Amino acid sequence: MTETDPHLIYRGRFAPSPTGRLHFGSLVAALGSWLLARHHGGEWLIRVEDLDPPREIPGAAQAQLATLAAFGLMSDLPLLWQSQRHDRYSEALSRLLADGAAFECRCSRTDLAAVGGIHRACVAHGPARPPAIRLRVADDSRVAFVDGLQGRIEQAVDREVGDVVLRRADGFWAYQLAVVVDDADQGITDVVRGADLLDSTPRQILLQRALGLPTPRYLHLPLIVDAEGQKLSKSMAALPIDDHAPLPALRAAWTALGQPAAALADAPSVAGALASAQRHFRPEALPKVRHATFAAAHNKPVAGAV
Ligand code: GLU
Repeated sequence: MTETDPHLIYRGRFAPSPTGRLHFGSLVAALGSWLLARHHGGEWLIRVEDLDPPREIPGAAQAQLATLAAFGLMSDLPLLWQSQRHDRYSEALSRLLADGAAFECRCSRTDLAAVGGIHRACVAHGPARPPAIRLRVADDSRVAFVDGLQGRIEQAVDREVGDVVLRRADGFWAYQLAVVVDDADQGITDVVRGADLLDSTPRQILLQRALGLPTPRYLHLPLIVDAEGQKLSKSMAALPIDDHAPLPALRAAWTALGQPAAALADAPSVAGALASAQRHFRPEALPKVRHATFAAAHNKPVAGAV
């Protein structure tokens, strides 16, 4: 855990889950968050979100870190591994339980399907099972925030999400609790990530409020999808990134972020490309969309390079 420096103006992070190799979409998110941190003279951290063993692939975390390093994207502070932070998540959960802000729930998916899949009150029918723990979301929990790229976002968390799972019935921590605790503990001022997580932000803000934690600024980059509109990580077309020849993918990620291809065209090395990227990066040019197609990222002057 790192101390929060009250004078810190900008600290960003990239927080991959080790469920496979990094693909082109994650590279775009990593590069975008790194560029924004550097643009603001800030720090950039990497956090390994290894909290879901059933979905993890052995060796994936090391492979992801090696890829980031091949692209010159290195954490300014020691890595944080979520699997080593159970005590911090337990502490936050105990606080919420003691405040009555969280409760045990034995509802199954089937129980909830009967009420539209959204938990507003326990409706468990089946045999007793180990409980999940949920955040109690009050009626009219409408949360709004201004995203740095996507503008004003509003969600009625009670109606659209329901009581948020904090610890799953299988005993694993939910991403929503861990990410909120870690962003606060690491003193993150700016969360920059893919637009697939836009939907999670209002519930993270509610959770920050329940725990008395500050809310960072948020900016959600367009999610890179393939020509069929599928998220790359879920698609057969997911582009594996070549650690041994990173420049073509780095150039493609740069143009996918709406930046001018010419700025990186002559860079002889990753270090040279990143230095030029820092000089030429214009946040105003980031595409203000939630989805950008994989094809579009390649229909730029570097087409076919990857
Ligand atoms: N670990 C999450 C993922 O890989 C990202 C979490 C975040 O950036 O808040 O999708």
